[in-house]
Amino acid sequence: MTSVIPIPVLDLTRYEESLKGEIAARVAEIFSSGRFIMGAVNEEFERKLAEEIGVRHALGVSSGTDALLVALMALGVGPGDEVVTSPFSFFASAGAIARLGARPVFADIEPTTFNLDPDRLAEAITPRTKVVMPVHLYGQAADMDPILEVSGPIPVVEDVCQTVGASYRGRHVGTIGKVAAFSFYPTKNLGAAGDAGAVTTGDDDVAALVANLRLHGETERYRHSRVGGNFRLDSLQAAVLTAKLTRLTEWTARRIAIAERYGEIFFDADFAGRVVVPFVAPGRKHVFHQYVVRVRDRDRVRAKLAEAGIGTAVFYPIPLHLQECFADLGYREGQFPKTEQAAREVLALPMFPQLMDDEIDRVAETLLASAR
Ligand SMILES: *Cc1c(COP(=O)(O)O)cnc(C)c1O
Repeated sequence: MTSVIPIPVLDLTRYEESLKGEIAARVAEIFSSGRFIMGAVNEEFERKLAEEIGVRHALGVSSGTDALLVALMALGVGPGDEVVTSPFSFFASAGAIARLGARPVFADIEPTTFNLDPDRLAEAITPRTKVVMPVHLYGQAADMDPILEVSGPIPVVEDVCQTVGASYRGRHVGTIGKVAAFSFYPTKNLGAAGDAGAVTTGDDDVAALVANLRLHGETERYRHSRVGGNFRLDSLQAAVLTAKLTRLTEWTARRIAIAERYGEIFFDADFAGRVVVPFVAPGRKHVFHQYVVRVRDRDRVRAKLAEAGIGTAVFYPIPLHLQECFADLGYREGQFPKTEQAAREVLALPMFPQLMDDEIDRVAETLLASAR
């Protein structure tokens, strides 16, 4: 067998030399200052992030998970409350709800966008619904106008962990609901050198609560008005993110160009019926955190690609309502058919800004040859 050059699903080692230099300089500054927690470096990042997104407040926190947790805490979510969310997401969105003693209530997705279906959401809302939490999956916003409409007075928390840079009818995600949670986990479109996240909000009171809760509810030294947590962002991460933020627009444009190139190859090859390419809903800017296709016989196709040296991933093979830890919620298989079908069919192809055109071509052609 001839050896093949592997194409990874994601390669975090391929980035610009100029960026490495800039990060090193910023990190050195932090060591000289001796200030590793909060301070001017964090404030600079928060200001630039808020500008980029067009939101009144951006607060750096320790991870996307903690951003969700602290956002829900700021809205007073606790035991006896319900939070409606998507069963087709990374674990953290439902995990944050359960950790506060509230009940995650799931509503099925739209099969085209993989995001919360506003009609199913409407059916899931009860008098106990405290928050509605749509997840903008793979880089595309959920259908926010009908989601806000059916939510009425119930506050909406956006899980924007996969969608920095995306927009919905001209509005940046993270500015549409009452509060939003960003993740800067290294694999995200804007990735730190470790765990990091942010909360955004246009509401002054919520911003003040988040600022308080991320510091153990401290109002002045050793005085605590409420029980929060240590949800702070490390200055080293803020410095890395400030340097990387200047490249985000360029990286996002490249992700979109990669998605277009994949799409062109599939269309030229008359792929119909074999590969379902991502659907970009009208009025939405999709930032392709993942380029996810649907294929029948996904695991066989995936093994074929692996044989050809091509890395792929499955986000997510087990829907949240079927997770062992949520067994006591009483959900059963078959309850969210769109989610369960997606979990069987989705396949994420290599997608990162430094992916090269010849690599894209090889991935697309190998997929076409493998899918029936
Ligand atoms: C990554 C992610 C999170 C959690 O972010 P961390 O920074 O890893 O804690 C939450 N929700 C979604 C949809 C994510 O993709």
